Amino acid sequence: MHQLQPYMPKFTADYIYTPKGSPLPNAVVVTDNEGKILSINRHNDTDGDVQRLKGAIVPGFINAHCHLELSHLHQQIPQGEGLIAFVKNVLALRNIDEEAQLQAAETADKLMYQNGIVAVGDISNTALTTQIKAQSNIKYHTFVEMLGFDDGKAETIFANALRLQSNFSGQTSLVPHASYTVSKTLFALLNTYCQTNANLLTIHNQESPQENLLYQNKTGSFLDLYHYLGINIDSFEPQNKTSLATILPLLPTQQKKLLVHNTFTNIADIALANKISDEIYWCFCPNANLYIENQLPPIPQFLDNNFNLTLGTDSLASNHTLCMLTEMRTLLKHFTNLTFAQVLQWATLNGAQFLGFDDNLGSITVGKKPGLNLITNFSNGSITPQSEVVKLI
Ligand SMILES: [Zn+2]
Repeated sequence: MHQLQPYMPKFTADYIYTPKGSPLPNAVVVTDNEGKILSINRHNDTDGDVQRLKGAIVPGFINAHCHLELSHLHQQIPQGEGLIAFVKNVLALRNIDEEAQLQAAETADKLMYQNGIVAVGDISNTALTTQIKAQSNIKYHTFVEMLGFDDGKAETIFANALRLQSNFSGQTSLVPHASYTVSKTLFALLNTYCQTNANLLTIHNQESPQENLLYQNKTGSFLDLYHYLGINIDSFEPQNKTSLATILPLLPTQQKKLLVHNTFTNIADIALANKISDEIYWCFCPNANLYIENQLPPIPQFLDNNFNLTLGTDSLASNHTLCMLTEMRTLLKHFTNLTFAQVLQWATLNGAQFLGFDDNLGSITVGKKPGLNLITNFSNGSITPQSEVVKLI
């Protein structure tokens, strides 16, 4: 009698990027029907039907920084006008009718899934996306974000953030928005909270040169933004330090931290961050940086230090799509010394490690269920302008 074999998808391609060590040529990845990796074999050691694909097989992508709730702002904000104009536009446009916001967020969640993203570190300022994230095929960590430059309002802002956090299922934490929107008192409340709560941290960092001007000598166009928003900053004292150098000592020491953007971060900032904490992760969102400031982070400065580097898409308010391949393509185009294998690790394993999802995601490893993507039109160990991502599992 014929024994019924369980269905075990088997894939081979020109290269398998695990991504640890060198890519494996013509290896076969065998999974169970849920996508758990059972084995990685040499081709001639594998029985049965193997799907032979052209290109490179890579793990599911980890998008370390997104704002799903801003998806309805796709193509609403002009490009290249700088961060202050961008922030003003987001504030003016973000609260359009809720149904449109929900629909856009739902579509964006599906878009990320189709683009091979399996996990996202997602910023929330509202409860809009709670259901979408709870029902998604993507694994989310929700960063409940706090903003408030007025010390007098810090207690209320913190209490509201705790309440908002309780709406989200899955992994969550409380985070400060950016150096220029969080008061010392709010940082202090977060510090106290982090002493007794595991609370993964992230903060927008040095996305614009104006942040450093504000902190170095209280100049630059953030002063216009505060005026526009009716925020009195008379008591704010610049310390002749960059924004990152000023706020690093205010951040809780116990937690892993993801600094996002780093477009205007200098070598001294990097060294200081490294000295203060060995749990610093850096996240680049190159297409958002080009969209808003038309500038890219000084990537080569981050390579010497062997830092934990990750990639994110930011939101559709400042990006044309939500696609990690597109982010990798931008970096490889502008920084020609980078290799595909390098940026792939940023887009997969490093992000999974930061989010604490690496027990199951981030690499093609026996026992994990990382998702599998095919990168097409792959040539000489890298992507080409024609490369696309096809989600296999
Ligand atoms: Zn952001």
